[in-house]
Amino acid sequence: MIPKVLPTYARADFALERGEGPLAYTAEGRRFLDFGAGVAVNVLGHAHPHLIKALTDQASKIWHSSNLYRIEGQERLGERLTQATFADTVFFTNSGVEAIECALKMARKYFAHTGQPQRYRTITFEGAFHGRTLAAIAAGGQKKYLDGFGPKADGFDQVPFGDHEALKAAIGPETAAILVEPIQGEGGIRVVPDVCLRGLRNLCDEHGLLLILDEIQTGIGRTGKLFAHEWAGITPDIMAVAKGLGGGFPVGACLATERAAQGMTAGSHGTTFGGNPLAMAVANAVLDVVLAPEFLDHVREMANVLTQQLAMIRDRHPKVIAELRGRGLMQGLRLHADYRNTDLIAEMHARGLLTISAGDNVVRILPPLIINTPHVREAVSIIDEACANVRPAESTKPI
Ligand SMILES: *Cc1c(COP(=O)(O)O)cnc(C)c1O
Repeated sequence: MIPKVLPTYARADFALERGEGPLAYTAEGRRFLDFGAGVAVNVLGHAHPHLIKALTDQASKIWHSSNLYRIEGQERLGERLTQATFADTVFFTNSGVEAIECALKMARKYFAHTGQPQRYRTITFEGAFHGRTLAAIAAGGQKKYLDGFGPKADGFDQVPFGDHEALKAAIGPETAAILVEPIQGEGGIRVVPDVCLRGLRNLCDEHGLLLILDEIQTGIGRTGKLFAHEWAGITPDIMAVAKGLGGGFPVGACLATERAAQGMTAGSHGTTFGGNPLAMAVANAVLDVVLAPEFLDHVREMANVLTQQLAMIRDRHPKVIAELRGRGLMQGLRLHADYRNTDLIAEMHARGLLTISAGDNVVRILPPLIINTPHVREAVSIIDEACANVRPAESTKPI
């Protein structure tokens, strides 16, 4: 019999009932150090007092009004996000994929609005992940997400990651935009080097294309800057944000320059729930913390501690760990082919550490940004033990 919850996830067999900071507990009292943070969502850990207060204060005022009316929380968050970034304007959504959808629609509308409606195609990269709507799985181009869902939505051209010649060859008279994650998350913590991000910006400028960044996973301080593209010293035309923005409350945002957004006039796009007052209150509270002076210094300091310690673990287990990848508090351990990332993650679960699998046989380490050195030490010692105990894939029982 089919489970009452549609079984689209291979879930681990435990439920987290409550949390505090980087710790989470099951009802039976199992304790976990949460270095997955709900896939880079809980940037301030669990049950952050400032977020609880923002949510409960707003809950006693108004939950929902409608985008038919002004929403003060949106105006405040829009003001702060544009102050802190390249952007001039923001559309608020409930999720990452809706922010991507807005970004893709905006890019097409820009060209329709400026007299080049034939330019509607977007170039993306192999290994990309942009969400699960029909458009986003076409953009991501991954067979495992496209299979069985009918013809792939038109308008996306994919090139191999890091293949500059293929990229140039893919630009044609119908190309509108390039969409890229500064670091592929689901794809296996594959970092786009700063010089390549600058190259993408130049290429877009040369050909009159829009550069769309998917910073849904890399944004809100994850890499030690508010947004990962800041490391490269470039700015996009459009950017999708979500995950960390609500610190655990569902919210996303599509940020854009005035030029890129010029076609998006009244009636061109919409959402019932996006930018809801509860989400805006929490996202504003997240920014109170993340934008405070020295918060990102702390992230960079913890990233240094974590990467140094992970390098030691790699040296201690060269047969298991093939490579360390990442930036800031977005790190990945790529395992040798004889080991399975899911087996190593199971060993970590058994010892009270949550981490997350990714493509390319990678174990993702995405702790909340509020961790301290003792949390890193505890996590690393569990990773060390897990590496010492994990068995090669041949010897694990087939499922
Ligand atoms: C998670 C993620 C998405 C999709 O976000 P949802 O909120 O699940 O729709 C898109 N792009 C990237 C890079 C992501 O990490």
